[in-house]
Amino acid sequence: MNTMITLALQLLLYSVTWLVLGWVFGVRRKAGFWWSAAFAALAVGCWTAGQPNWQTSTGAVALLNLGLIGGFYCLMRGLAYMGRYPVSMLETITPLAMLAAILLLRLAAPDLVAVRLLLFSLCVGWCVVRSAWLIKQLLADVGYPGLFLPLGLAPVLILLALLGVRPFAVALDAGGTAAYLLATDSGYKDLLVLAGFLCLMLFNLAMAVVVIGGLVQRLRDISTTDVLTQLPNRRAVLDAVTHEHDRYRRSGRPYSVLVIDVDFFKRVNDTHGHAAGDQVLIGVAHTMRTCARDTDMVARFGGEEFLVFLPDTSEEQAFTMGERMRGAVSAGQHSELAPQLVVTISAGLATVAPDDATVDEVIARADRALYQAKHQGRNQVVRPSATTDSLWSESLANQPSHPTSH
Ligand code: GH3
Ligand code: MG
Ligand code: MG
Repeated sequence: MNTMITLALQLLLYSVTWLVLGWVFGVRRKAGFWWSAAFAALAVGCWTAGQPNWQTSTGAVALLNLGLIGGFYCLMRGLAYMGRYPVSMLETITPLAMLAAILLLRLAAPDLVAVRLLLFSLCVGWCVVRSAWLIKQLLADVGYPGLFLPLGLAPVLILLALLGVRPFAVALDAGGTAAYLLATDSGYKDLLVLAGFLCLMLFNLAMAVVVIGGLVQRLRDISTTDVLTQLPNRRAVLDAVTHEHDRYRRSGRPYSVLVIDVDFFKRVNDTHGHAAGDQVLIGVAHTMRTCARDTDMVARFGGEEFLVFLPDTSEEQAFTMGERMRGAVSAGQHSELAPQLVVTISAGLATVAPDDATVDEVIARADRALYQAKHQGRNQVVRPSATTDSLWSESLANQPSHPTSH
C-alpha cells in the first residue's frame, strides 16, 4: 500500500477517536466534532494524493485542496471552540475564497502553478499558525505552557519553512527546481508529507493534553472547592497549612491560623430557614475573603466553621486580621433576608510555635481559643492563654463534646 493511503488510514483513525471522545464521553463535544471532521478531511486529502496521476484530474485536485485546506481549517475551529476564543467571519471566508481561487486558476490559467502554490501555502500556513497560537493559549490554561515549544512551535516552523519555499522556488525555477518540487516522488515531497504528518501528530498530542489536562484541573478544583461558598475546602486548607508547617520547620517563618465560627447560627436557620442560612454563609465567606490578603487562605472548614490560614503572619498581625473580619461581618447587612438580622462571628487564633510537631496542634490551640471566645460572650477574637487552656480542661471534665467540635 502506498504511503499516502497508509497516512490517510491513520488520520481516519484519529477522526474516529475524536468522534468517540466527543460523542460517547462528552469531552467538549463540539471541539471533538470539529477535530473529527478535520482529520476526516485530511484523510480524504491524503487518500487523493495517494491516487496515481491525481494532478491530471481537476476533480482530484479540487478534492485534495478541499481536504487539506478544510482539514487544517476545522482543526483551528476545534481549538478555538475548546478555548472559547472567537473566530471572525473573515477567518472563515478567506480560506474559502482562496480555495475557490485555486480551483479557478487551475481551470482558467493552469500554467500559473506558483500562484496556486502560494495561495495554498498562505491558506494552510495561516490555519496552522492560528492553530499553534490557540494551542499555546490552551496549554497555558491547563498548566503546561512548556509543551508549546515541542508540540506547537517546532512542527509549525518546519512545516512553514517547507511550504513557504515551494511557491518561490517554483516561480524562479532555477536549475529545474520546479520539476523537482512538483514531482510526486521527490525527496522534497517526502519531507513535506513527513513534516505535515508530524505537525498533525504533535497537534493531536497537544489537543489530548489540553482535554486531559482540563479534566484533571476540573477534578482538582472539585475536590478542593466548597460548593456553597466557593471557598477552598477543608482538604485544600489542611494541605496548604501542612505545606507551610514543613516550611516553618526549615525556615522558622511563622504562620497563624484563625478558626472562625458563626455565632448562634442554628437560630438563623430556625428563624429564617435553611436556604437563608446558606445565603448568610455565602455572605460571611465573601466578607472574610474581601478582608483577607491575596496570600491568605479563607476556607470553609465544615458546617458554619471557617479556617483562615495566614502565612508569614505573627500573632499580632493575625489578631488585627481577625478583628477586621469580625468587624466587617458584624457590620454586614442582610436586608434581602431579614432587615433586622445581625450576624456575628467568634474567632480563635493560634500562631505556630517551635513545640508544635504538627499542624493539628496549632489548629487545636486555635480551637481552644475559639471555645473561650464563645464562653466569653461571642463576637470576639481570642488568642491562646492560660485561661483558654484551663477553660478547655474544665469543659472536657464537665462536657465531653464542646459546641464547635467538627
Ligand atoms: P454557637 O454560637 O455556639 O456556635 O451556636 P450555633 O447555633 O452556631 O452552633 P450549633 O453548632 O448549635 O449550630 C450550628 C448550625 O449550623 C447547625 C447546622 O444545622 C448549621 N449548619 C451547618 N452547616 C450548614 C449549612 O451548610 N447550611 C445551613 N443553612 N446551615 C448549616
Ligand atoms: Mg456556630
Ligand atoms: Mg460550629
